[in-house]
Formats: sequence, structure tokens, C-alpha cells
Amino acid sequence: MLGTLMRAAAAFLVLALSIAGCSSRDAGPGGVQVVATTTQVGDIARNVAGGRAHVEQILHPGSDPHEYEPRPSDAEALAGAKLVIRSGGDVDDWLGGLIGQAGGDARVVTLIDSVQRDGGDPHWWQDPRNGELAVTAIRDALAKADPGGAAIYRRNAAAYEARLKRLDARIRGCVGRLPPAARKLVTSHDSLGYYARRYGFEIVGAAIPSLSSSAQPSAASTQRLIGRIRRQHVRAIFHESALNPKLEAAIAREAHARVAGALWADSLGPKGSTGATYLGSLAANTNTIVGALSGGRVSCSL
Ligand SMILES: [Zn+2]
Repeated sequence: MLGTLMRAAAAFLVLALSIAGCSSRDAGPGGVQVVATTTQVGDIARNVAGGRAHVEQILHPGSDPHEYEPRPSDAEALAGAKLVIRSGGDVDDWLGGLIGQAGGDARVVTLIDSVQRDGGDPHWWQDPRNGELAVTAIRDALAKADPGGAAIYRRNAAAYEARLKRLDARIRGCVGRLPPAARKLVTSHDSLGYYARRYGFEIVGAAIPSLSSSAQPSAASTQRLIGRIRRQHVRAIFHESALNPKLEAAIAREAHARVAGALWADSLGPKGSTGATYLGSLAANTNTIVGALSGGRVSCSL
């Protein structure tokens, strides 16, 4: 009798372990496999999915999405996916024919089609109101792929949207303490247009004057930027975490400014960094920008 009970208990334990192993490695009870392209989209999708769906993210923290070359493992992930969530535009153009080649039957959602886009600028996530629109699009796509989880996705999305709204208000409050004449941005490439428009910064220029980090600056464009930084008395310019800051350092030297940063522009940072999450990256960028442009007089502590 005791032996039978122990065998039953052992069998139950094995079963429980295998279920636990399965749910943590693969997907929750909805069983939906999701592939997200960029680090920001991956983080937003994980917040909406919670433990219900498994989100596989193609880009690693710290990698430049404009320059990414897909690997065979990306095709494997795509082949098994029910839903693919793209950021859209130049940051995941490389996905191109990969989905078709992978041979899966995933539905593809391109978030830039659901946000307030500005021409060909793909960096929409730098405005948290666009983050909210992306959350809604992801919530609806997940609910369609996994109707049984709709209530969970709705709840997760609402909670995350509330956090985005609160952060947006706090960023506005802090930038408001920066003298308007100091609200001037120079970055590695044209990555913060959405952020600048949302919070009232003027874009003075970029070391790589392009919406793509893979463009090459000319000597003439660099000289023009140095002239603008001097004339407008820009105190600090910013480099971006995923890019080499050499050019920014040279520009800052010539323009009598300093290089501050790094900003989390096109990629989130590794675990434990201030840019490990989408919300964290927006807060950390604001702390860095406001601190540097006020010469340390205004501190946000977001
Ligand atoms: Zn970019």
C-alpha cells in the first residue's frame, strides 16, 4: 500500500516537474509562440504576454538594429511562431523575406502601422504615447492568436499602459525644469526625433546625420554640426550605447562641448543596466539628458 502511494507520489512529482519545466521553457497555458524583433518590442510584448505566451526576441541587448544580420536560429524561431511582432521600418527591414523562407504560418504585426508615425523615422518608441499604441496593437494581436488568454492580455496591457502614462507625465515634469534655451539635442544619429517632439527639444543635429546609424557622415556635415553646436552654446552632446562614441568625442572637442551618455537609443541594455527595460530606458535617458544639459543643476531621479 505504502509502496503504491510512494510510486504514485513519485509519478505525480515527475509529471509536475515536467509541466513546470515546459511552462517555463516554452509557453504558458495559451501555448502561443511569439517572435519579437527589437529589444524594445520584445520588452513591451513580454509585459503584455505575462506568463501566458512565450516571447522570443531576435535582437540582443546592445546590438544595433540597423546593422543586424539574421542567423539560422532566427529562421527556426520564426518557423515555430504563431505571431511575429515587428517594430517596422529600417530597424527590422532585415526580416524581409526571412518569414517566408522560414516556412511558418505566423501572423505578422508591424507596430509602426499602429502608432503616430513621423514620415520615414522608425524610432517611434521614443515617444511613450506611441508605446501605449503599441501595447494596444500587441494586446489585440495576442488575443486573436490566443482568445482564451484575452482577459489576461487586457489586464496586463492596462497595467502597463498606466505605468507608461505615469512615466510620460514625470518626464514632462522634469524636462519642464530645464531652461527652454538648454533643450537642445545632438545625438549619434537621428534617433530621438519622437522624444524631442514629445518633450519640446530642438534637434541641433547628429554626428551621423541620418535616420539610419549605418550612414556615413561627410567631413562637411561634421564641420557644419560643430559650427551649430558652438553658435547655439550646446553644453553637451550625447552618444548612444550601441554605437562607437569616437566621432562624438572628436566633435565635442572641436565644439567645446562635452560628451554625455550613453543614451539607450536603438537598443535596450543588458540585465542590471538602467536601460534593461523600455520604461527604464526612457527614464534613464531623461535623467542623463536633463542632468547634462543643465550642467548638473537639475536632477530628475526618474
Ligand atoms: Zn536608429
